This record gives sequence, C-alpha cells and structure tokens, in this order.
Amino acid sequence: MASTLTFPKGGVHPPESKELTENLPIEVMPLPAELDLILGQHIGAPCTPTVAKRAVVAEGDLIAEVKKGLGVPLHAPVSGTVKAIGVSAHPLRVTTPSITLSVDREAGAKQWTMVDWQQMSAQDLLQKVHDAGIVGIGGAGFPTHVKLKPPADTPIDTLLLNGAECEPYITADHRSMVEKAEQIVTGARILAKILAVDTCYIGIENNKPEAIKAMTEAARAAGGGGCQVTVVVLQVKYPQGSEKQLIQAITGRKVPAMALPSAVGVVVQNVSTARAVYEAVTLNKPLLEKVVTISGRGIRRPANLLVKIGTRVSDIADYCGGTTGDLAKVVLGGPMMGFAISTLDVPVTKTTSSVLFLTEAEIDTRSMSACIRCGWCLEACPMGLEPKEIGIYVEAGLAEKTEPFGVFECFECGSCAYVCPAKRPLVQFVRLAKMKAKRS
Ligand code: SF4
Ligand code: SF4
Repeated sequence: MASTLTFPKGGVHPPESKELTENLPIEVMPLPAELDLILGQHIGAPCTPTVAKRAVVAEGDLIAEVKKGLGVPLHAPVSGTVKAIGVSAHPLRVTTPSITLSVDREAGAKQWTMVDWQQMSAQDLLQKVHDAGIVGIGGAGFPTHVKLKPPADTPIDTLLLNGAECEPYITADHRSMVEKAEQIVTGARILAKILAVDTCYIGIENNKPEAIKAMTEAARAAGGGGCQVTVVVLQVKYPQGSEKQLIQAITGRKVPAMALPSAVGVVVQNVSTARAVYEAVTLNKPLLEKVVTISGRGIRRPANLLVKIGTRVSDIADYCGGTTGDLAKVVLGGPMMGFAISTLDVPVTKTTSSVLFLTEAEIDTRSMSACIRCGWCLEACPMGLEPKEIGIYVEAGLAEKTEPFGVFECFECGSCAYVCPAKRPLVQFVRLAKMKAKRS
C-alpha cells in the first residue's frame, strides 16, 4: 500500500519493531488484586476524591472529580473497596496522590445498556464525553470535551482522527482499528456531530494494511449520514502522528507557530479516543480501561492487553510471564517520547499506550560527547528548530536565552536526539530550557 503523503519538513525512520505484537489480538487481562488510581491523570487540575477510605464502590461509580479548573472526573474501573487515599508511584515524580482500590474479583462485569446517540443533541453528547472522564488517550491527556469546544471565533470544518501510531513498538491503536473499526467510525461520527463538521479524515501509516482495510470498510458501511469519513493512507515517517504534522500531511494546512490546530479549522483526536467516545455515548460507560501494548525483548510474552486503569506494571509483567535476565530498561510510552521508569509499582493511567521492556541490545548505551556541528538535528526537526543551539546555550548556563531558537515550539518528539551522532540529550536540554525560560 504505497503512499508518499507525509509532512514536508524533517522526520526520521527509526526501526519499527512492531513485529513482536502487531499480529496479536487484544487480550483481556484478568483483574489484579489492587488498582492505584492516580488523581492527576491528565493535563490540568488533579481530581479530588469523592469517596472515603473503606467506601464500597461499584464499577463505573464516580470516585474523584475536578472541583475547579480544567479536568474530568475519575471512576472506579471495577467494583471493590477503597483501601487507601494516599500516594502511588508516578512515572515522572517519585510519588503522587492516588486512590488505591481493593478489587472485588467476584463482583462480575457490569452490563452496559446501548442507547441511540443519533437522537441526542450536540450539547448532550459533549456533556457525556466530559462525564465519562475522557482525555486524549494517545498523547498528553488533554481533556477531550475542551478540545471539542474551540473558541467561537475559530470555526472548525474538519475532524482528523490520528491512526498513524508512528512510535516504534506500539500496536495498541493498530489492533483497535483492526478489531473495533466500526466503533471507532461511530465515535468519529459522534465527534463530528459535536463539532458540527461534515468532513472527517482518518490518517493511517501504510505499514498497517489490515487496519487500513478494516477502517475503510467500516467507513464505507457507515455511509454519509451527516459526515463523510475517509481513510487517508500516509507514508511511514516519525513523527507523523503529531498534530501539526498530521494536519499538514492530510489537509496541506500549516498551523502557525504557537497556535492550536483550531487556528486552521481542524480538531485532531486519536482513534482510541474516538472509541472511548463511542463507549461513553452509546453505552454510558466511563473511561475505565485501555488497550496497552506490552513489548520489547525483555518481557517473556509480549501482548496487546486490555487492562483496567490503575493496573500496576508489576502485575502486567507477572501476567506476561515475567522479565528476561537481560532486561535493561522499562519505558512507559514509546522509545521516542516515553519515559523510563525506575519501579514497576507505577500504574497504568488514561494516557498509557505501552510498556516496553527493553534489553541492552534494544537501547543506545553510548555516552554523550561534544557537538560536532554536523547539522543532522536541524535536518531531522519537523518544526525547523535549532536543537543544537538550544543544547549549547543550556550547557553554557544560558537556558533562559533559548526562546529565539524555538524552544517553546518544540513538542519533544526526540527526532533530533535520535539522529545525533554525539548522543547529546537534546530533548532533556529542551525541557530544562523551557523550565528556565518560563521562570525568567
Ligand atoms: S524534540 Fe523538539 S527540537 Fe528535537 S526534533 Fe523534535 S521538535 Fe525538533
Ligand atoms: S546532531 Fe548532535 S552533533 Fe550534530 S549538530 Fe546536532 S547536536 Fe551537534
């Protein structure tokens, strides 16, 4: 399935490494004994618990909500008892406030009743998306209902669904598109009704022929019905799935520096977010679980698992047969944008797309050296930034002077660091520069 459609500037081609899981059907992981529900699951304000210690909760019950500011509620992924309102391990911080739930494994799964979404108003649909606690599943976890309500002075004419899944190893969206194509297309139509648009494109890279076929057939079967859903086949290039690159590849529109996609009339959602919207609206089911790719050569049995939010990585590792003796690093997310974790106590959140168990042979262990000014990082940057200069300024203690090199436009894709022959930690330099420039 050849396609040359892609974004025009920069980009890299890391080894895809998807062969470990791309043909493995989604498997439901049995319930663990406990879940840790982190209260700050998304960008914005963290939730405040609405339950007390020892409270008995049923699957889908509200357990925390955002009282003030940007955010969405949190629900009990299963029936059980609140064991503690305390702290859990966090992928970036040492610990973070959380609710620990003792799981009632005898309770049985809740039966969700189907409703007809076509009779609902756009406002009611939007409210359901909020009430179900949906955030952008594939990325930073921006509350979805906020993205669906752009400012009145920025008219939206196009919905883009991101099915690129351009990070190596990860196949969670791929398997969802193959196995749940109809639900994703219905989710797209619900999103289109909320946004009042009649055009939706679903971008998929050409290394996923099965997903392209399933989604094309589902889109055809759905017909027009208020919104024309079209699958667009994209060239394999990282970071194809980032919002600005996807928009330019599919619509040709260039989002201005520091602006949001709505500035060019587009809203982007991930395909798995569309599926969560489908469940929220047609089943009244909150976001309780997600498909997570478990991969890398450091885990005995790679898998695409449907896990409850709050499941600890240690329980996942046990279920997948344990780790191999040569395990060197565990990464939450993809190898390009993910974060290495130091403890397997970290739980899955609404934004976790994969857990990678990597051996030494799969990671780059070379140490950093001085910049040789080869310019490769400039060529690789899809935003046309100057990561080399940012690094040099940060090392010289001048982080707050990096704004002219576009530090705030950097979305930390890691393409520059990937190509750097001197193994310079360019993304870490950018993060530090952002922090210091904001403070200055
Ligand atoms: S991490 Fe930032 S600077 Fe580096 S390539 Fe990506 S956008 Fe450019
Ligand atoms: S790729 Fe690395 S060595 Fe080359 S210019 Fe950029 S920072 Fe310097």
